[in-house]
Amino acid sequence: MSDQNPEVKYFEPPVFLSESEIKERVRELASRINEEYGNNEITAICTLKGSVVFFSDLLRLLKMPVTCEFLGVSSYGDHTESTGEVKVTLDLNEPLNGRHVLIIEDIVDTGLTLSYLLDYLKAKRPASLRTVALLFKPAAIKTKGLKIDYIGFEIPNRFVVGYGLDYAEKFRGLPYIGTLEG
Ligand code: 5GP
Repeated sequence: MSDQNPEVKYFEPPVFLSESEIKERVRELASRINEEYGNNEITAICTLKGSVVFFSDLLRLLKMPVTCEFLGVSSYGDHTESTGEVKVTLDLNEPLNGRHVLIIEDIVDTGLTLSYLLDYLKAKRPASLRTVALLFKPAAIKTKGLKIDYIGFEIPNRFVVGYGLDYAEKFRGLPYIGTLEG
């Protein structure tokens, strides 16, 4: 916009996972999911907002018929520490009973969000319920026996942004995953 100062440079977080690393891993995840589900129709659930980029990249590589659902969940506010509180901010449109449901998650940190979601969605009686998470921080997990069926990358306990993930609503549009901590 015309009143922006061209001298102002926005902070670019250092690259943690590059665009090409992410692309390759998303392809691998998609091919496993394609193999395992075959031609069974699935309902893919995008957890807003962080999963939106991963969801749309993965979706375009899936070969079975897919119905898309969006579920708004919030657990963080503007902080980098989990509050442990999970809230559904936007609910599903369609019933899930009898459907093969795949939750598409950006990141599993403490696991509190995913654990809450699994209970929430199980109660809707799907035929099957699986999860794919692009990122998983094993050192941060606080929930016992949490099942993640497909994991993109196991990462250390650092706060990451980009590829859909924010810090205070910023950085979601970065095409790579960067870190805010050294
Ligand atoms: P959990 O409930 O597993 O602790 O956290 C899940 C949610 O916390 C994620 O869906 C994401 O919104 C947020 N989160 C956890 N770790 C990170 C991180 O490293 N970066 C960002 N941007 N969000 C995170």
